[in-house]
Amino acid sequence: MKKKVLGICPRCGSRYLRTGDWHSCEARCGFRVGDLFGAKLDDDQIHNLLGGKEVLISGCKSTKRKGTFALVVKMTGVRQFAYTKRNGQQRTGYDAEVARRFPDKKFEDK
Ligand SMILES: [Zn+2]
Repeated sequence: MKKKVLGICPRCGSRYLRTGDWHSCEARCGFRVGDLFGAKLDDDQIHNLLGGKEVLISGCKSTKRKGTFALVVKMTGVRQFAYTKRNGQQRTGYDAEVARRFPDKKFEDK
């Protein structure tokens, strides 16, 4: 399957790849860019996020608001998370820790 480099993994420095429908760190260090605030990121957004740039994402959802809204996010680090699978297995992974803010006018005008 065709591979596309989306950026550099912030956890281990390996390449971060898109392979078909899946994207993850080439070295499988456990880091993966997940959905952010209910929104799926496309390749350009993942590329810019991993590059440390601010990324405008639309389609964000919140339990406190109706409908969807846009946010500007920027990666600030790597966050570890842990969860227990249904069979009781403990799993840990890493995803992007982000700062977020509401878009200002220059984004809205687009
Ligand atoms: Zn990695």
